[in-house]
Amino acid sequence: MKKSLIILLVILFVGGFFIFKNNIFLKNKLSNLMASEAIYYPKDSNESSTLSVPGGDVSTSGFSQLDSASSSDSSTALVVIKNNPINYCGNNIASLSSEDQKYCFRPPKENAFRLFEINLTDNKILFYENGVVQKIFPIAYQAPYGIWFETPTGYFDIGVKTRKLKSSVVPVYMEDAVQFYEDFFIHNIPYWGDGSKVTSQFSGGCIRLNDDIAKTFYDSAKTGDAVVSYVTLDNAKLKDNFFAPVNLSQFWVRQRYNSPIRSGGVWSQDKKDEYIQHAGLDLAPYKDATDLGVYAIYPGTVKNIVLNGAGDAGLGNTIILEHEINGEKIYSLYGHLKSIELGLRIGDAVSGGQKIATVGNTGYGCDYWKIGKDGCDQTGESDTHLHLEIKSEPVIGSPKSDICINPDGKKTNCVGYASDNPWLFGYQDPMNFLFSSF
Ligand SMILES: [Zn+2]
Repeated sequence: MKKSLIILLVILFVGGFFIFKNNIFLKNKLSNLMASEAIYYPKDSNESSTLSVPGGDVSTSGFSQLDSASSSDSSTALVVIKNNPINYCGNNIASLSSEDQKYCFRPPKENAFRLFEINLTDNKILFYENGVVQKIFPIAYQAPYGIWFETPTGYFDIGVKTRKLKSSVVPVYMEDAVQFYEDFFIHNIPYWGDGSKVTSQFSGGCIRLNDDIAKTFYDSAKTGDAVVSYVTLDNAKLKDNFFAPVNLSQFWVRQRYNSPIRSGGVWSQDKKDEYIQHAGLDLAPYKDATDLGVYAIYPGTVKNIVLNGAGDAGLGNTIILEHEINGEKIYSLYGHLKSIELGLRIGDAVSGGQKIATVGNTGYGCDYWKIGKDGCDQTGESDTHLHLEIKSEPVIGSPKSDICINPDGKKTNCVGYASDNPWLFGYQDPMNFLFSSF
């Protein structure tokens, strides 16, 4: 009698546990559906225990550990999303510095279950799990902006991980190296054969973390994790008489001018030959953006309008404005537009700040380039951005003759990218053109 009661209780307990587990699973699924267009699951949920951070080093290393919710306890994070949709940090934000608290109010840049955001403006790497900030890693050093091998911006994946790596160029060793894009790694402060630290600031585009942080980062990152590298416009100050091409408080920079993109080129001693460089500035809206307008950066006239189709060279709906600044003609190009303002025609005068279009994701195609993870033959929400160029001629492609090798290996006239530093081909950096500081 007693024995069967115990068995019954055990059955009830175990059964109840499974129902409970299933509920969490369902909640997990539902929240994912609500939070994103696609559902993502961790590739190996057993590995998620490696997420926890060794305790005790929070103050000494400047490393802030946030909500310790791991994927085995993802219900905590999910409730946070549901109850307070604008807090992306979870409940435990006490350990956050006041400077870092701003990250709680910006949605993650991608709907990935595990996401590393490299914020090059603030020198921070944010780790999101299921849409919630879990950890913040300070960056010790990144490559200087404007060199041909600047730290790349864009959507990437964690690639190979190597505990010890020897540079192929100089006899320098790096530890805890994590690949995030082609030749670009996140690793510790490199050292020479005798153990002395490399003091040179030339990083070849890699991101350096202090040794203890590099170890923790190495343990946190898993091959295949999503990566977005970007700069923000939080500190951008417009020059006098210039106007913002988009609402600066609602957009971020998903690809900088000069950012290196691996092309179909063959291996060469000078890696420069293997990369093409972005000739414009890609401005993407935050997911909660309400103002998707595109605005004239300066007074001028409409010089050209190209509609999405065969003649767009992958730029989709495009407007080119002509400006006269200090007696010189200069052109601003706005690409991938969703729509152009009704009634706007070639030859029309526009005032500075006038709305000329709405940001979109038109264009692309396998014949040109691939931006974003969903391939070259489809576009998704995350592809929505403004491609802005400042150039010396009112043309879709390069103002000067320039041949690029596309990812598919075909040679074409460069559009949106340059085979070398873009200023050699008649482009200017839109950030430097528009802003006095950023
Ligand atoms: Zn672009």
